Amino acid sequence: MKIKIFRRLIQIIALIILLLPIWFTDLIWYGTYISAELAGVDLTDPLTALEITLASKTIWMPLITSALPLTIVAIIFGRIFCSYICPLNFLLEILPVKRKKILQTRILPLVSLGIVLVLSLILSVPIFNTASPVFAFMRMMIFGVGVEIILLALVIGAAFIWGQKIWCRTLCPLGAIYGLLGVKRRFAVTVDKNKCINCERCEKICSMGTSPLKKSFEDALTCTNCGDCVDICPKKALNFTFNGLNDKR
Ligand code: SF4
Ligand code: SF4
Repeated sequence: MKIKIFRRLIQIIALIILLLPIWFTDLIWYGTYISAELAGVDLTDPLTALEITLASKTIWMPLITSALPLTIVAIIFGRIFCSYICPLNFLLEILPVKRKKILQTRILPLVSLGIVLVLSLILSVPIFNTASPVFAFMRMMIFGVGVEIILLALVIGAAFIWGQKIWCRTLCPLGAIYGLLGVKRRFAVTVDKNKCINCERCEKICSMGTSPLKKSFEDALTCTNCGDCVDICPKKALNFTFNGLNDKR
């Protein structure tokens, strides 16, 4: 089975799981992808935990502990939240927008991450949590359309002008923190150089403007482990392994 089909299934299941608490309150899962309870275990995304810690200027151990599971997942698997769970990424992937490759600067999300953390500290408000198109879209699906639609319209408009993943590649601080945590991840696309014919199809298909053939910090930061490059490779030179990003076969 193509990885993309598997990924689409997971994306749809993730959406259903997100929406289920609207109708059922006695599930083992309750919450959103910002903060949730799964079988009695509290889960918070690492950026939210960091923002709240900075905004409140208090280290609250239950919050820090609740961010650990998703932090560990990101350290091992990288940005799989982006490619498998994020509803905004799913929306951008099913919209009829082109994958233009301009605005290539891939370090910008780190700048964006730094800005939201500093602003959270100064303004005592978790900035990204309050004004994030990712969370806004989630809130709209659960609670109905509100003023958040402006944020979503901006991201979709930018996708039509600058390309499908312009938000993810150049601004999203949530993607940046997951990318940073997973920059030395074990689970990664590995290239078998004996099979590769340098056709560059893997680079052309990548919606994040990165390449499984390169191993720079920016490539490691940007890749979401989506598997599109693995699917497209005509020589089956690409595979997911637990050998880590530095594996040179
Ligand atoms: S698509 Fe496969 S064969 Fe072509 S450059 Fe990428 S890894 Fe090599
Ligand atoms: S390099 Fe491959 S796995 Fe990584 S984002 Fe691009 S297409 Fe997806």
